[in-house]
Amino acid sequence: MTSKALIVFSGGQDSTTCLAWACHQYDEVVACTIDYGQRHRIELACAAQLAEMAGVTHHLLTIPWGITPNTLTHGGVIDASGPVPNTLVEGRNMMLLTAGAVLAKSLGITHIITGVCEADYSGYPDCRAAFIASLQTTLQLGLDYPVQLITPLMTLTKAATVELIKTLGHLEWLGYSHTCYEGHQPPCGQCPACQLREKGFREAGIQDPLLSRVWPASSMGVHP
Ligand SMILES: [Zn+2]
Repeated sequence: MTSKALIVFSGGQDSTTCLAWACHQYDEVVACTIDYGQRHRIELACAAQLAEMAGVTHHLLTIPWGITPNTLTHGGVIDASGPVPNTLVEGRNMMLLTAGAVLAKSLGITHIITGVCEADYSGYPDCRAAFIASLQTTLQLGLDYPVQLITPLMTLTKAATVELIKTLGHLEWLGYSHTCYEGHQPPCGQCPACQLREKGFREAGIQDPLLSRVWPASSMGVHP
């Protein structure tokens, strides 16, 4: 029997690592990207390109979700000094996984993969294992369907995720992933997301393929 999984796929570093893991674990992988109103549309382009590189079917759903102010959908200066950074999109993972589960059920898929990670959860409450376990139960009841939420990165450090994708033979995919909160290409190197990414590569002792990439002049700068 063919094993299938659906990956909730943002085109970022963690979900790209999960994509490589899923392609290794399952016969058939479907990627689902959600346009939730993120300001940096480059994320959606990266997700589409990576799905094509991996040879997986790609679904794009549009679900505007910036209900409360945050810098990813509303703009403004990133501030990580409070108990929770203002990059938090309240309820985002709950929405992404719920939409992914509904799509998965329609495709006859029970395994849903997400790159959430407790090790660097930054105060985002819906990245925690307790939340994922609770949501899985809720989705099983709400859909009357045996949804399994799979979190390959839950306990891994950023360095360990870099090592994982390298071991899987797809390190070069990270050269097409997008992390920068400022929407820069090449990445700004200064924002919290760029710095967390840089720290992971440094600790793993591996060169980030995104930084050695040669960019066409037309693609450089800030991408809305
Ligand atoms: Zn940045």
